Amino acid sequence: MTNIRVGYMEDKIINIRKAQLLSFSIAIPFLIIHTGLIFMFRYYGITPMFYFNIGSAVFYLLMQIVIAFKLLRVFIVASYIEVVAHMTAAVIFVGWDSGFQISLIGISFLLFFAEYVARTIKIPYVNSMLLSMLGAVSYIAAFVFLSDHPAPYSLPPEVEFRMQIMWAIIVFTIIIGFLKVFVELAFRGEQFLARRASKDELTGLYNRYYLMDHLHRISNSEGLNDHYITMLDIDDFKKINDTYGHNCGDYVLKTVSSVLKGNSFGAKSIRWGGEEFILIGSLKDRSMDEQCSILEDLRSSIERYDFAYEGTPLNVTVTMGVACYEEGISIEEWIHMADKKLYVGKCGGKNRVIR
Ligand code: GH3
Ligand code: MG
Ligand code: MG
Repeated sequence: MTNIRVGYMEDKIINIRKAQLLSFSIAIPFLIIHTGLIFMFRYYGITPMFYFNIGSAVFYLLMQIVIAFKLLRVFIVASYIEVVAHMTAAVIFVGWDSGFQISLIGISFLLFFAEYVARTIKIPYVNSMLLSMLGAVSYIAAFVFLSDHPAPYSLPPEVEFRMQIMWAIIVFTIIIGFLKVFVELAFRGEQFLARRASKDELTGLYNRYYLMDHLHRISNSEGLNDHYITMLDIDDFKKINDTYGHNCGDYVLKTVSSVLKGNSFGAKSIRWGGEEFILIGSLKDRSMDEQCSILEDLRSSIERYDFAYEGTPLNVTVTMGVACYEEGISIEEWIHMADKKLYVGKCGGKNRVIR
């Protein structure tokens, strides 16, 4: 088994390094926005928010260090709390029409996305459900509070107008961007797992699970008529393992697999289990006689192949049982037919193709 210590996405789709870069790509714009707000609040004389924003800018400066140390959960929780506190304070001081509260909606998407990424790459994560309640409660509480306590400051109407547009752009960008990335990650992750589940680790051939799926797909589309199955088994494989060791056995399995994979007659090669393989192909372009003669060539090419493990030459042969699909039989019965032919080949002296 290959090492998949931190999940399938470690080397494939997202890893801690990418999550760190993503965090920087959030924290840096936040730092820039908060620095800009310092000047805006200063310009319009909204002193409490001017000081609040100095604090926020310093906070996001510190967050760059937190991210550099890969403390991503600290970054997410602290930033979320900062956004909630900042937005609530801004709304209370400059009023609902400034639109600061809208950002609480966008930030919830970020929170859920962060939880998804953290859980996927198996690093400590935040319960976004609980934390986002904090945002929701603050949103409603600020609204209720303002109904009795009008904001002591206000921004000029034209500034509020531009702020509303700015918030809409920021929040829609966050929602659309992160949902798109989320869908992409989830879909590619599933595809990756499906590919992984259909392949045999050792040989890279398709596995039994894939074969059954493949046969059912053919059965449901064009039908299985004109298809054949070949059950192929390495002769005296146990002897190879016992004489030269398991690693040598693995070498033989991998080499036979690569010969099967490279077949030029369009058959799909499957590792059925142990040292048994299945070839499945169509008889649309050739007769069963022609196909069996091709399989005979394959058998003979394996017999003549120069197998050598750590300098020791090995004689490797295979026996095959071939069964053409017969109307009305089940897939299991069909495989069993090929297996019975294989058994005949084994009893008859091995290293042969039986149909
Ligand atoms: P026959 O000619 O009748 O097929 O005899 P055989 O020795 O090939 O068959 P048998 O079923 O007696 O032995 C198969 C062996 O394959 C037993 C098992 O330990 C070995 N085997 C199964 N999977 C693997 C694997 O992944 N790697 C290695 N090295 N050996 C394996
Ligand atoms: Mg065998
Ligand atoms: Mg066997």
